[in-house]
Formats: sequence, structure tokens, C-alpha cells
Amino acid sequence: MAYTKKQSYQPTKTKEDVLEILEKGIEQFLSSDKWKQYLTFQATFHDYSFNNCISILAQRPNATYVAGFEAWKKGFNRYVKKGEKGIAILLPVFKKVKEKEEREDQKPNRTLVRFRIGYVYDYAQTAGDPLPEFSFAKRLEFHSDLYEKMRATCPFPIREADDCGGANGYFSYSDHSITILSSMSSAHKARCIIHEYAHGLLHDPKDKTEGSRPHRSIRELEAESVSFIVSHHFGLDTSEYAFGYISGWAGENAVQALKQSGARIQNAARKIIESVETKDEVFFEKGLNLKKVI
Ligand SMILES: [Zn+2]
Repeated sequence: MAYTKKQSYQPTKTKEDVLEILEKGIEQFLSSDKWKQYLTFQATFHDYSFNNCISILAQRPNATYVAGFEAWKKGFNRYVKKGEKGIAILLPVFKKVKEKEEREDQKPNRTLVRFRIGYVYDYAQTAGDPLPEFSFAKRLEFHSDLYEKMRATCPFPIREADDCGGANGYFSYSDHSITILSSMSSAHKARCIIHEYAHGLLHDPKDKTEGSRPHRSIRELEAESVSFIVSHHFGLDTSEYAFGYISGWAGENAVQALKQSGARIQNAARKIIESVETKDEVFFEKGLNLKKVI
């Protein structure tokens, strides 16, 4: 049976416009100080070789974040406490090799000549400014009646739980159900249901259509973008959450990825909006059971 639209909706902005709002928001987020701080953080703490990681843990089994004396000072305004002994690591020493035809735009060739011993210090050996926290996505602590609407119309069964393994919610592809964290505000629950609903529509591992299950970071970008568009349509502003969440997952390439996934995002958003606005029947494609929503 073909799906027929029972009622047409008149959004104040087209979904394309809303996608642009999202794009601009993410662009702004990626040029914010918070994002720059995050990049410094990543660059400082993810640069150790496997051998050095083993060596660090052998010398200090409880080490959490390690960095050199200067890196703590310059990057995080923290100083190594008096009397603390450094953790020895091996640092490669390179020599620049000049080639006759070396061009302006090429990086100079480098050869590894030897290793030298350097020292790093664990976070607990330092004091000063607190390390920045990177929970980019802000909780939406207010009420929204969209939660009731989503509960009444979402075709996937929704459960609430005290613990979702550190997440706000998840979609189970084995029984096509949504579980969300019970302690969230109604606005945040609505946002979360739409996000998981989008995963259910777009990312079923049983769907073998090409491109239907992209990399995890793109799946999160798609689900959260759908949530942003649907929420926006029903008057719930989730930008504080969405910009940070999407940037956190998709990073510097978020805007480009958003453009690539645009059609999939809009298609899923349209389906969800229609399932709320035409409450009587929702039909699914992609081999899911046809289901009547009451
Ligand atoms: Zn997700």
C-alpha cells in the first residue's frame, strides 16, 4: 500500500533553511575558543607512541594525562609541583635533509638520527588551572510538549531506564526499540527520542543498500541533524546541544559531511515530521513491519 499524506504541514522555514542554520551554527562552534582548547588538548595528549605508553604506565601505573613541563605551562597554565620526578620517555631526534630540488611548498625531508630521553609529568604531579572539560553538548533543562507528541507517534517502542551505559539513549536494532535516560527533562527526552528514531530509520545494519550505514561519526551527525530539524519544526530549539554534539563527533569536516548527508537527513526528518502530523498511519520502508500507530 502506498503511503498517502493525510495532511500537509506548513513549516515556517523549509528544511533546507534549517539545515543552513545548523551549518552556520557548527561553523561558529568550530571557530570558538572551546573548540580550539579541545584541539590543544587532543594534540598534547595523543602524541605518544605505543612503546612510550607502555613505558609511562610501567613507571606510573595511575597516570591519566601526561605532558612535558613546558606543555603543561603553555597549554594549560599548570606547573609541575616541587619535588615531582619526571616520567622518562624516548623522544625521536630528527635531522633535516636538504635536497637540491626542495620546493617551497614541500615539508623539508627529515631523517631520524637517534633517540633522546625526555621527561613528562602526570596530571596528578601538576597544579594550576583545572583541565578543560569537553562535554560540548549542553543538556536541555526545560519542558517541551514535543516529548508527549513523540511518545504518542513514534512507531518504535520507547523504554525509559536509569542507566543507558553513559549515553542519553540508544536504539536497539535487534528489537527495533528506543531506550532513553529517565532522569532527563522532557525537552531533552524529545530531542533524544528523535535522534534514536532517526538511527532506526537510517542506520539499520540489516539494510544492505549502499551507503546506508556510514561511519559512526557520520551516523551520529545524521541522527542529531534530523533531531535538530524536527525539533526546530515543532518549536524546540536544540542548537545548544546539536552544534556541540555534531562538532564533537564529526570534527573539522562536519560542515562538508552535513552537505553530503543532506538528502538523507531531510528525508528522515520529513518522515518523522509527517508521522507526528498525520498521527493515524505511519508506514515504513526498508523491510520494517508495517505498523499502525494509535
Ligand atoms: Zn546516536
